[in-house]
Formats: sequence, structure tokens, C-alpha cells
Amino acid sequence: MMTRKIKYQTAINQYQEIAVDKYPSYCGLCHKNVDPLYLGLAFKNGDLQSLDMQGAFQCTNLDCNSVIIGYYSREKYPGEFTLNKSGPITPQDKEFNDEIADVSPSFVKIFNQSFYAEQQGLTLISGIGYRKAIEFLIKDYLIYLDDVKEEETLKKPLGQCINELENSNIKEMAKRATWLGNDEAHYIRKWEDKDVHDLKKLIDVTIYFISMDITSKKYLQDMS
Ligand SMILES: [Zn+2]
Repeated sequence: MMTRKIKYQTAINQYQEIAVDKYPSYCGLCHKNVDPLYLGLAFKNGDLQSLDMQGAFQCTNLDCNSVIIGYYSREKYPGEFTLNKSGPITPQDKEFNDEIADVSPSFVKIFNQSFYAEQQGLTLISGIGYRKAIEFLIKDYLIYLDDVKEEETLKKPLGQCINELENSNIKEMAKRATWLGNDEAHYIRKWEDKDVHDLKKLIDVTIYFISMDITSKKYLQDMS
């Protein structure tokens, strides 16, 4: 990573240069990787010796052109500024295929609220949201398979519901997703080498198997 120099105008209309480690490289509004245009900077409290600084940049994606703010800090004055984060960020939705969206619209909503939380940096609570999403997915899927048992299914603990799944791929993945999801809700973790990224991967695999199952059942019915 190359140091970049940016200029700013002092109160007495002189131009000075300072060094930053890098520009923001991602626009959180259009969600594109960009090398933005530098516009100007602001020191905290207008103090040129401040250890905190915000840089204003413009997204170079012509369809966006929004202002990106880079939040910088340095350890001492004078010194090079390091980019800590950039904003603003509008959360993105994760897209799910029609099979999943039809069987469990609640899963899609809960998953994306958790994903919003994660994208906003609220990673301590996003995992619990994913755990809740799994519960809705599995129960809605069981109800899709057998709607006569709806009331019964809704009352049962998630673990029991998972054990009733006949498709062993779905069962084994959903079980492990729930283990990690439960870890997100408890003080002590059982799976110390796993985190919310593993949880999301397990949810992805579970969704994949559920989609395959729904699709194959549809074709078997259509073409029996
Ligand atoms: Zn942009």
C-alpha cells in the first residue's frame, strides 16, 4: 500500500500536505470498489495537530458520485494518518431464490435484518438474529412438507423439529447451524474455533439443500 499525499487549506489560506496510508477503496452507497476523488479534509475541532481527521472523497462511479467520508487517525503529530473506516454505508440485502422466499418469507426478513446489523458493525447481536432465522426456516419448511402438523411444529423446540427432517443433508447442516447459532446466544462458546462466518456458511448450505429438495419434489410431482 502506497502512502498518498493530500492537500488542505489552512486558515491563512496556505496549502499544506499531509500523508495518508490510503484512500477509501469501497463506496458503501453503490457498493462498488472505486479509487475515489479527494475533495478535502476536516481536522477534529479544526486543530491541525489533531490525531483524528475526516477526509471527503467523491465516488467515481458515474451512476453514484456520492461523497465518501474516510475516518482517519494517527498516533502522533506530525505523522501519517491511517484509514480506520469509511462511510456512509447503506445495508445490502442478501438475495434468496424463489423456493426459499416462497417457503419462508419470515426467514428472508429475519436473515436480512441480522445482515443489516452485521453490516453496521453490530456483530455481537447479528449472530442471534441468524439463529432465529434458522428456526423460522426449518419450521416453515416442515410446514411446507406437511401443513397438517402446523400447530404441532410451531410448538416444538427447534432441535426436535430438526430431528424430524428426513433429508439427512438438510438435517445434518441445520443441526450444525443451530449449534453455532446457540453459541451466539450464550455466554460461553462451545465451538471456539467457529464464528458467525461459519454460521452463515452453514445456513447457505442448508438453504441449498432445501432448495434442491423443493425443486426435485416439484418435478417429481409435475412429471410423475
Ligand atoms: Zn458510489
